[in-house]
Amino acid sequence: MKLKKGIALLMLVAIAIACKTNPFTGKKTIALVSNDQLFPSSFAQYNQVLSESKVVTGTQDSEMIKRVGQRIAVASERWLNANGYQAYLDDYKWEYKLIESEQVNAWCMPGGKIAFYTGILPIAQNETGVAAIMGHEVAHALANHGQQRMSTGLLQQAGGVAVAVAAGNESPEKQQMWMQAYGIGSTVGFALPFSRSHETEADKIGLYLMAVAGYNPEEAAELWKRMKANSGGQAPPEFLSTHPHPDTRIENLNALVPKAKAEAKKYGVTSFRPVN
Ligand SMILES: [Zn+2]
Repeated sequence: MKLKKGIALLMLVAIAIACKTNPFTGKKTIALVSNDQLFPSSFAQYNQVLSESKVVTGTQDSEMIKRVGQRIAVASERWLNANGYQAYLDDYKWEYKLIESEQVNAWCMPGGKIAFYTGILPIAQNETGVAAIMGHEVAHALANHGQQRMSTGLLQQAGGVAVAVAAGNESPEKQQMWMQAYGIGSTVGFALPFSRSHETEADKIGLYLMAVAGYNPEEAAELWKRMKANSGGQAPPEFLSTHPHPDTRIENLNALVPKAKAEAKKYGVTSFRPVN
């Protein structure tokens, strides 16, 4: 009996240690795997996806994805530095790739590994639209949403799996878990959608990031209107219109625009690039 209590106490202590406050959300979240464990897996999965995909290079579009990505990364860094989190991005190895695919998809894996699919470009419509998507996806990564989803998944399984997933050999199960945690799956029902609260958080952080990066935050709502019009079952869960309700999302984004502009002003950004 005593032993059981002792073990329970140890587990509680372990969970308490694993809880970290996220600078972007101010929330304490469970992180059963550290960046040291997570990022090498993330980078390996990213390279795996790239090796199985047609990566577009040297085109106007691929250069644009890179340019927007770099600006969003700089905005993230400025924001973190200004808020006392200088070391937060130390382990990040930003990369921004465009993949030739009809899928309406884009994602950012832990450590700043970003992919856009050519299928999402007509909905992005312009560079500012790309910035809205990029800000949103980078926000999921910075707020550790995928990691939280993975940690929850791990908690539901046997305790030892946490370590196995972080350090173990490549396996179809492991890859599938990554795909699900980070929304990389291409068909509905394979990748899990992020929760409504995670989506709302990513919308808000993403809007601030795009504004600090010099892109007009008013355009985020326009992007989601186009996303809504397009969501005829083709979009993966990350971009399905039902979660949160697209009209609520658009209203929320519009309501946050003045705050995003005020945030950008703190960094000397008082006008935005023309939308084209
Ligand atoms: Zn999202």
